[in-house]
Amino acid sequence: MNVNSSTSIIESPQILNYLADGIIFSNHDGIITYANQAASQMVGAPPDAMLGRPITDILTRLPLLAAAGNGTKASQFELNGRHVKGKATTIYNPENQAQGILTTLQDITSEYEAEQAKKHFLQNISHELRTPLTAIKGYIELLAAGTGGSLNENQKMFTTTIQRNVNRMVQLTNSLIFASSIKSGRLEHISGHTDLSQLIPQISRELQPKAAEDGQQIILEIDKNLQPLQIDPIHMATILEELLTNSIKFNRSGGKVRVTAVPETGNGNQQTFVIVSISDEGIGIAPSDQAYIFEEFYRADNQSDTQIRAGGIGMGLSIVRALVEAYNGRIWFKSAPNQGSTFTFIIPNQPPDHPPTP
Ligand code: ADP
Repeated sequence: MNVNSSTSIIESPQILNYLADGIIFSNHDGIITYANQAASQMVGAPPDAMLGRPITDILTRLPLLAAAGNGTKASQFELNGRHVKGKATTIYNPENQAQGILTTLQDITSEYEAEQAKKHFLQNISHELRTPLTAIKGYIELLAAGTGGSLNENQKMFTTTIQRNVNRMVQLTNSLIFASSIKSGRLEHISGHTDLSQLIPQISRELQPKAAEDGQQIILEIDKNLQPLQIDPIHMATILEELLTNSIKFNRSGGKVRVTAVPETGNGNQQTFVIVSISDEGIGIAPSDQAYIFEEFYRADNQSDTQIRAGGIGMGLSIVRALVEAYNGRIWFKSAPNQGSTFTFIIPNQPPDHPPTP
């Protein structure tokens, strides 16, 4: 299966046939010079039929990967009814000349299906829960208001506790429904304008009592040249509330939370992006957790009092990332244990032409 071995860097590829992942090597002209058994099965063509052909003929979804240039690029696509994760890495010889591209194909169909099942389950269960919860919430409000007869002190205490917990459950189901609708690309009200120089102080005022309970201080540094962004104010408020709430929850007692917002003007004077950072001086995020914290339901496995007290279900950051990306923005963070965290997001001034599918 190894033609043109003078240009191939794979000399003894037999062992690669034992791998479950597909391996394809293409030379710098994009011509396949090697494919292992797994790759041939995934592509659905005998190895000999693959050799000597342009890789983009065989893997039509691969042009992006094939043009990987330096480093490694990855993407997910469907191949003969299976879900595959493809990775393309440029291979260099000792003289640092590019020899071609090594493409690996990993069949992730079971993971993909499990993820879809989880998504559907969450979507259905949260919709199913909302109706009975709304009824419970309504009736408990009537009881608390004395509509069913006056309550004694004990009964009032019980109804207050029920109300508080029902409200939490309603909030949770609403978050789940909101998260699943943005993730499936059904983001409504993508129009609207947000003036960050008003919204940031407003959200920080709302969260001020929570911060003050723990002796924390919220400091705002908002550039006076900031212009309104074309983003739905409710979406931006959700992003800011989640990030600011986390900074307060995971901060040290008496620590500072700093919010900065600056415009990026590119070459001209017109604002092209806005960059917002939210930093705290808290427990930070361990390197082993950093790759996962944007995933749904992920919470750092941190037994610190702060993490335990913080509560939460690990949905906030996944919603924030989906929202930021729905507006073609990006979010990232820097953090070290006990040295605080800084979350930064960048949002382009113009919204996408049509709502993207996050
Ligand atoms: P939740 O706050 O409900 O747990 P999130 O998705 O907002 O869910 O956050 C996921 C996890 O990321 C948190 O449980 C926490 O472990 C970590 N995290 C988020 N923000 C911070 C922060 N500012 N400092 C330290 N850890 C954080």
